[in-house]
Amino acid sequence: MIGGNTALVGLLGWPVAHSLSPAMHNAAFAALGMDWAYLPLPVQPEALPTALRGLAALGFQGANVTIPHKQSVMALVDVATDAAYFAGAANTLVCRDGEIIAHNTDVSGFLDALAEADCRPRRAVVLGAGGAARAVCVALFRLGAEVVVANRSAERAQALAASLRSPGTAITACPMDQTALRGALSDADILINATSAGMWPDVGATPLPQAVTLPAGITVFDLVYNPLETALLQRARLAGARCLDGLAMLVHQGAASFELWTGRQPSVDVMRSAAIAALQHLPPTPAPGSGAPEDPCSDT
Ligand code: NAP
Repeated sequence: MIGGNTALVGLLGWPVAHSLSPAMHNAAFAALGMDWAYLPLPVQPEALPTALRGLAALGFQGANVTIPHKQSVMALVDVATDAAYFAGAANTLVCRDGEIIAHNTDVSGFLDALAEADCRPRRAVVLGAGGAARAVCVALFRLGAEVVVANRSAERAQALAASLRSPGTAITACPMDQTALRGALSDADILINATSAGMWPDVGATPLPQAVTLPAGITVFDLVYNPLETALLQRARLAGARCLDGLAMLVHQGAASFELWTGRQPSVDVMRSAAIAALQHLPPTPAPGSGAPEDPCSDT
């Protein structure tokens, strides 16, 4: 029950109605008997600066940040951790001593999901060039992996590779075409979908051109978690690939945010069960032209 002493955190995004994070975090607070609450906070892009000032003014302990604010929030915070700075994107804010600190727990969440699956990639093909792709690339660099990035809008993949390239990283951009992708995949040990292709309600879409064959033995990690079994993972399973869905990353990035705000370790199992239960109760897609923002699923 929310009362005068309840500590508040929330999710800044537009839209946020279908997020699984309120269910995950509120279940974890309840399991630990903590007087905390996690609220969905729909914030349109132009209102983000005001919303951030409001967070601090209202005494929030922090917030998650999701589409479309992950990159734009970086210009509005006081301090950024290395992960957020290198990724150029944040998914977690901590309000402390009058400052807003940007973190990126997508980076650690992705690494925790790989560790849980006992997977240590050496050469990765990453599809996508948005906030999630940037976090995944930073995480892969931490493992010492080489990265090839491809995106529907080729210039965004090139810009991502250029901005993350440094003496300590190996990253190249590759066109999203059959020949180039076949070549990139032929010596990769993991393919990561960090695009929103395949996400509900467009569940038939896959980010990988149909003509590209998945090599035997490759791991396919799809960050999309709604649905858990995407069209890409179905295709990968048929090709004999190892398949990892987006749930473990979702839960681990959430657990890391929880710990940053509260200083306490939540039960990952409680968060996972709450996320699975919430996935089964997502509201229907808004009718086209209803005026409601379409929210296939936010990523926190
Ligand atoms: P974003 O910044 O909006 O980027 C979206 C990316 O998807 C862009 O690269 C875009 O390409 C590409 N894309 C969109 N529709 C596509 C289509 N039909 N075919 C091919 N490419 C398409 O979003 P984001 O924050 O990076 O998130 C991307 C996905 O990762 C979402 O599904 C999100 O839910 C998921 N995610 C999951 C977790 C987790 O914990 N499991 C964490 C973070 C994100 P263009 O540049 O050409 O538009």
